[in-house]
Amino acid sequence: MRDTPKHQGQRNQLVELLRKKGIKDEIVLTILNQVPRHLFMDTALANFAYEDKAYPIAADQTISQPYTVAFQTELLQLSSTDKVLEIGTGSGYQTAVLLGITPFVYTIERQQTLFKKTQLLFQKLGIRPKKHLFGDGYLGFEAAAPYDKIIVTAAAPEVPKALLKQLKIGGKLIIPLGDKEQIMTRFTKTSETAFDREQFGHFRFVPMLENKIK
Ligand code: SAH
Repeated sequence: MRDTPKHQGQRNQLVELLRKKGIKDEIVLTILNQVPRHLFMDTALANFAYEDKAYPIAADQTISQPYTVAFQTELLQLSSTDKVLEIGTGSGYQTAVLLGITPFVYTIERQQTLFKKTQLLFQKLGIRPKKHLFGDGYLGFEAAAPYDKIIVTAAAPEVPKALLKQLKIGGKLIIPLGDKEQIMTRFTKTSETAFDREQFGHFRFVPMLENKIK
């Protein structure tokens, strides 16, 4: 499938909607206007790619709603030199958005079918994170730590300790916390052991599963 003027027109409308819904960061809006979301979805659903909704991808997972992707990315306050760790690669759409801002992106997925599918897609589209890893995101990725920013795109009951540890002092971690419904939470590391914690509204994510790589 290709990217066409029709897709671009739909993306323009989506971005206007995100603006109305409160996304302000012009860099984030520009990137969402550029990344062809339809290429990250199953062909049967590609016609809906520019609806502001989550859709099923492989392995019972979902591609996040564009508003959620924009909201989490805005909260990260990314700079072009930030090293970022993403937990829950899924379709790779959020990864592509992060790569629009910084080249230093590490991303982890625990579902092997999805990992392989997205690996092929990345090759096809020329999308090159620093590393695309198959593994348990609860453990983070120590080898490239510390990170300026960490983004978790699955729901966790509480923040994984390893992720807080792998954050730089001054760094930020965005994670949806909770069971049936989640509260978007941002941790800012103020010293080796201290964190500021801010909360930003309710969302629904698929669960972040621990020790269950398959
Ligand atoms: N950003 C993705 C969101 C996918 S949904 C997108 O927009 O497409 C969340 C993803 O987190 C799923 O792919 C799920 O398999 C993955 N996930 C859940 N628990 C995980 C864990 N412990 N480690 C890594 N990935 C995990």
